[in-house]
Amino acid sequence: MFSYQNIPTYQQQLNEGEVSCKDAVAYYLDKIKNASHLNAIIEVYVNESIERAQFLDEKRKAGKALGKLHGVIVTVKDVISHKDHKLSASSNMLKEFISIYDSTAVKKLLEDDAIIIGNCNCDEFAMGNTNENSFYGRAKNALDENKVSGGSSGGSAVAVQAGLCMVSLGSDTGGSVRQPADFCGIVGMKPSYGTVSRHGLIAYASSFDQIGVFANNVEDVASVLEVISGPDDYDSTVNQQIPKEVISSKSVKSNPKEYRIALFKNAINHESLDPEIRKAIFELIENLRKDGYTVEEIDFDLIDYIVPAYYVLTTAEASSNLSRYDGVRYGYRDEKNTEDLATFYKKNRGKGFGKEVKKRIMLGTFVLSEGYYDAYFTKAQQVRNLLALRTKEIFNSFDVVLLPTVPTTAFDAGMMEKDPIATYLADIFTVYANLTGIPGISLPLFKHSNGMPFGAQLLANKRDELTLLQLSKVLLENYKRY
Ligand code: GLN
Repeated sequence: MFSYQNIPTYQQQLNEGEVSCKDAVAYYLDKIKNASHLNAIIEVYVNESIERAQFLDEKRKAGKALGKLHGVIVTVKDVISHKDHKLSASSNMLKEFISIYDSTAVKKLLEDDAIIIGNCNCDEFAMGNTNENSFYGRAKNALDENKVSGGSSGGSAVAVQAGLCMVSLGSDTGGSVRQPADFCGIVGMKPSYGTVSRHGLIAYASSFDQIGVFANNVEDVASVLEVISGPDDYDSTVNQQIPKEVISSKSVKSNPKEYRIALFKNAINHESLDPEIRKAIFELIENLRKDGYTVEEIDFDLIDYIVPAYYVLTTAEASSNLSRYDGVRYGYRDEKNTEDLATFYKKNRGKGFGKEVKKRIMLGTFVLSEGYYDAYFTKAQQVRNLLALRTKEIFNSFDVVLLPTVPTTAFDAGMMEKDPIATYLADIFTVYANLTGIPGISLPLFKHSNGMPFGAQLLANKRDELTLLQLSKVLLENYKRY
């Protein structure tokens, strides 16, 4: 019987002939079939993945050079283009759309021999943190189906949580990889802005969006990141970066280095934080201190400005990014309506987009409008600038910042409808990394008395993924209480 631990072990089994890619695909297809009620995967590429497994098995047997992700079974969020496959952003607007090219991330996965087995459910256009804004309905948390998966990359998180694939790609604009990873009890990482090309990623808020990775362990995150990151002629925000240090599962050895860790007082004492989560983080700090790490509590008094600044700036960018969906060249079109151009646009956009997306387009248009621009958009940009200055100061004195990932464990289903503002506010600990472009990771370290998992989040300086991954390994190996 096939069982999966991590990429290196699986590849060793492949090389030794103990398993084949075909066995692995058969195993996952079966699991996916039995977990269809979780609604994590929108479309499963059954025949294609079987054929690809066969091709890869032959390639290996023929002694050819193998890619770094040889045989690794991956799912991708429904906002990442994969040529000739459905790409709908979980929206009625794009429900018939088939991608005409590969995103750079997918191209790199395939060049390195990965097998993409399906695409994953998410909040519509990646807007949300419950996966309840999806046109296909919500992905369910496999640990308790009455709880949300988190979002927006909820389907990807559940796919890894429920063992429906080995690793998954999501996107993180304000926490959409780290937050569902936290709710599902797995590892979720958002690299620095500009690490992975955004070419072929459906844009939500372009100065925040970044592709991230879900996995069961840090080494798998590193292996995938190594393959998908790097310069790309199609995304100048990647090209402008200094060459990265090589990240690979091998470089992510548990490093005995003495890390200097900062903890934001204003976060850990925030009124929204569940007391049990606070207690677990304090205990973690105590243990780290006992083991000789420097952990200092520092002021971060900008905390209450970050969620408002995030929602002003991202909705502004979204209102512009989503203006391309008008039903003229592609996307939802109401065929009966041809009276005049304005009505044509209104009907297509009115029916194509869901409620949350329309709300955000209107909010974004409002904050950019004459008379309100300075009061909202400019102010939010000022907050973003202050955050950049403060971040620079912090990383002059510290290697990492430790934070909770989310103030609570997974919400009950229905939260988005019942209290949307509360869901926005729950992004308080994740949006900071996107406002400043720094990398962040959520690590499944704890279990709550309500039975649900929760994580701790680490943030590092821009382009310092290696420190983040190395300390993550130390924490998962020595401080896991779950
Ligand atoms: N919850 C945040 C939002 O709705 C983050 C979404 C994301 O990272 N894609 O904007």
